[in-house]
Amino acid sequence: MSFDVAALRAQFPILSRQVDGNPLVYLDNAATTQKPQAVIDALVDYYSTTNSNVHRGAHQLSDEATRRFEKARETIARFINASAREELIWTSGTTEAINIVGNGIRQQLNAGDEILVTEMEHHADLVSWQQACKASGATLKVAPIFDNGALDVDAFKALLSENTRLVAMPHISNALGTINPVKELTAAAKAKGALVLIDGAQGIAHGMVDVQDIGCDFYAFSGHKVFGPTGIGALWGKKSVLEDWPVWQTGGEMISRVTYQDAVWGELPNRLEAGTPNIAGAIGFAAAIGWFSQLDLDAVKTHEASLIQSATEQADAFEGLTIVGSAPNKTGILSFIMQSAHPADIGFILDRQGIAIRTGDHCAQPLMKRLGVPGTARASFSIYNTLEEVDQLFKGLKKAQMMLA
Ligand code: PMP
Repeated sequence: MSFDVAALRAQFPILSRQVDGNPLVYLDNAATTQKPQAVIDALVDYYSTTNSNVHRGAHQLSDEATRRFEKARETIARFINASAREELIWTSGTTEAINIVGNGIRQQLNAGDEILVTEMEHHADLVSWQQACKASGATLKVAPIFDNGALDVDAFKALLSENTRLVAMPHISNALGTINPVKELTAAAKAKGALVLIDGAQGIAHGMVDVQDIGCDFYAFSGHKVFGPTGIGALWGKKSVLEDWPVWQTGGEMISRVTYQDAVWGELPNRLEAGTPNIAGAIGFAAAIGWFSQLDLDAVKTHEASLIQSATEQADAFEGLTIVGSAPNKTGILSFIMQSAHPADIGFILDRQGIAIRTGDHCAQPLMKRLGVPGTARASFSIYNTLEEVDQLFKGLKKAQMMLA
């Protein structure tokens, strides 16, 4: 199967729209990806034919909705090579998934315990642990990065100790594109007996994730980063860990017996999923994964690599522009600053030309401080972007540079 980017783009209705009279050049894929018609159709079809609540109705629609919802769970579980469907807990996204673990670990920590994170955390994968440490008297340790945005693996390993209860790290940095060697880091953490959580918000969109191969305890991710709807994501956890994980919300669905005085929780996965879930979201997410999995993923990888390679070459040749984050192993994210141009102004001028990028601290304020920048402009590429769009970005940046000089 060869990779036909024009045919792929034709499956994304939004990519043919205009912004201020210019064709949309969407380069904000690390924030959220666009949705193919297959996902939009799955949502419309669910609401048009099957909409009902799950797990409770004694009627046909409810049975069908439950079947589709649970099939969606199996699809996502298989996609990340979970060993069982009940290891996949639906959440509203990565943030909620991490908070479930944060809430549980807070109850287990004591003074003297340690949590290890990296300098490149998104706030979603920092503040939960920081607050858990503050509440319990445990210590938060932060593994340093090099100036190019790569993790200092030796320093990371040296910071592990017998007191490390949990290690959290991004699979891929949203601000820099750095791909972390999560399997190697997980093995080092497990050797010390720590739990390991991978923030997979960016990792889920770039090739195959195999949670068993990584060897982690938790993998948190969002549907909207991989062509699925917003408001749906998942916490994958090893069954042996999730079985005893503290309940974080109570209510319907998650409970097996209730009296006025007490309650008995249900079984996984429901015990960590209180209330009516995002049924349509789960079905849409599974449609996205079904659609994505059918692509020639090697060809996708090659295409994505060509986009970031062209962007990096053009950025290197662009006078006054500095790339922020050039780890040897990185994905399709180009973060940069430009001399005498505030990132927000760059974003604004590009937007007038129909080019959508993200500017600011990328929910990673401590990382920006560590790198000595107030924020960056970030172009992030996805499978439907073209080399012509990369060229347009740099044409737009030339214009911005002239206007801001
Ligand atoms: N971690 C990383 C690395 C991210 O890129 C994001 C999304 N920007 C998140 C966590 C949070 O994901 P969500 O907003 O979908 O919960």
